[in-house]
Amino acid sequence: MGIAPPRSPLASSPMKKRPGPPHKLRRRELLKLLPLAFLPACARSTERDGQGPISAADPLSHAAPALEAPFASTGTGPFTLGVASGDPRDDRVMLWTRLAADPMVAGGEMPATDLEVEWILATDPELSSVVRRGKKVAMASQAHVVRVDVDGLSPSTTYYYAFRYATSQSTVGRTRTLPARGDHVAAIRFAVASCQNWQEGRYTAHRHLAEEDVDFVLFLGDYIYEEGIAKDAIRPHESDELETLDDYRRRYALYKTDPNLQAAHAAHPWIAIWDDHEVAQNYAGTFAIDKSAGDFLTRRASAYEAYWENLPLRAEAPTAERGLQVYRDFSVGDLAHIAMLDGRQFKSKLVCDGAIRSCDDRLSPQTSMLGAGQEKWLAETLRASRASWKLVGNNVMMAPFPFGAMTNNDQWDGFVVERQRLLSLFREIPDVVVFTGDVHATVISELPLDPAKPDAGNVGVEIVTTALSSRGANHGLLELLSRAATVLPQVKDINAKDRGYLVCELTHDELRIALRAVSTVEAEEATVRTTGAWRVARGSRHVDVLQRS
Ligand code: FE
Ligand code: CA
Repeated sequence: MGIAPPRSPLASSPMKKRPGPPHKLRRRELLKLLPLAFLPACARSTERDGQGPISAADPLSHAAPALEAPFASTGTGPFTLGVASGDPRDDRVMLWTRLAADPMVAGGEMPATDLEVEWILATDPELSSVVRRGKKVAMASQAHVVRVDVDGLSPSTTYYYAFRYATSQSTVGRTRTLPARGDHVAAIRFAVASCQNWQEGRYTAHRHLAEEDVDFVLFLGDYIYEEGIAKDAIRPHESDELETLDDYRRRYALYKTDPNLQAAHAAHPWIAIWDDHEVAQNYAGTFAIDKSAGDFLTRRASAYEAYWENLPLRAEAPTAERGLQVYRDFSVGDLAHIAMLDGRQFKSKLVCDGAIRSCDDRLSPQTSMLGAGQEKWLAETLRASRASWKLVGNNVMMAPFPFGAMTNNDQWDGFVVERQRLLSLFREIPDVVVFTGDVHATVISELPLDPAKPDAGNVGVEIVTTALSSRGANHGLLELLSRAATVLPQVKDINAKDRGYLVCELTHDELRIALRAVSTVEAEEATVRTTGAWRVARGSRHVDVLQRS
């Protein structure tokens, strides 16, 4: 379904913002009249119950209002990959789109020259109350991506945006700025998601994610998967394993052709970090599992460039020398401070040959997941925050998770000394919650200061989200994982069977987390329901299970 505005707001001229009383009067009239005009197009709202996307029976405290627009369609012409926003701050947000008439061919079937794109940002979905507008050059050398850092915005405000190229207009995206640093904020809602393997599932979860009433989405890695075509694919990848920049660009394009992924981007700003599959399985810094270092660095540079082009991340384009700046922090008023980690770029070579086993090197003080610079930054960032909660976005599991005597040494279990420093840091700082992806299961843990000494107490909690679409554990592993919840005292709940995402509701008193699970990722349509819920009371460093998963 196409959003067909009654007129093209980007076509109006001049491009300069024209503030003033006549405009404001008109804006108020339009705001009264026009939002209703969008509602008939919102077919999905009829599928929800009257309580909004989270029903009254759910453990989150308040029901969400219905959203104003579907945000699911692509625009016309070269806007085949939709729009996105990300990295909101109190005064700015990144907007994203890409011009590609045919996104699956190199060059996107666009002229091989730089192209000028107009963008517009308004306070209403009809884009009549214009706040900012401008032009941006989509460079041919960057696959005609458009990345705009729109500043001068108001805190805690919802905005709508779109792009125009020649006579084509993109779909309308919605985004929201964060509260101003230090301002009192009573509550926020946000989603946590990761792992969207195209071959292993359709994006039914994304469609429901688009309809959640959340301020932002934390995405914790595995945005694409670099693998070739799987024999048992639900829908196959377009090529063999990725190697070149064109390969990586085409893979992002494939994923972004999915209307449900487009809807999830268009509905909410995303704050994303990466994990391994944006480059290669279980890579660590400059080390690949099965490639020589020289080849791998070229491949990694291509993968980093494509990541930068396709995610609405506020960072300079990567270079071989400086890499890509992925770790960064966000202030959410007096309520929360968010530190997003990069657990890949600076990671030292995996110990125990990267195998699932244990070895003495796990205890080596030389190994590092974050690198010294990032570890110092994290400590300074968390210590400086006066916010009630400190949320950490993290790519691989931090809680100890041994399988008997074996450990997954790609996880923090392979970086024991550095983890111990982080846990000691968390002990100084109340109300740290670590959010993690990677394992395609929901794992709710407390973080013990010393797993060998349960009496030493907890320093925080870790909430691991399941995958949006990537396949979970097979039957045997599923049973093993489920048993872990009873064998490992730090693991409070585990759900390895459901695909979906988490919706979190944060107040100064508590964090409530709901696992929103889809009925299937193997069909086009799915229902969503809450299949687990947990609570962390402020000051407790402890998880209450509200609804066992
Ligand atoms: Fe994954
Ligand atoms: Ca991963």
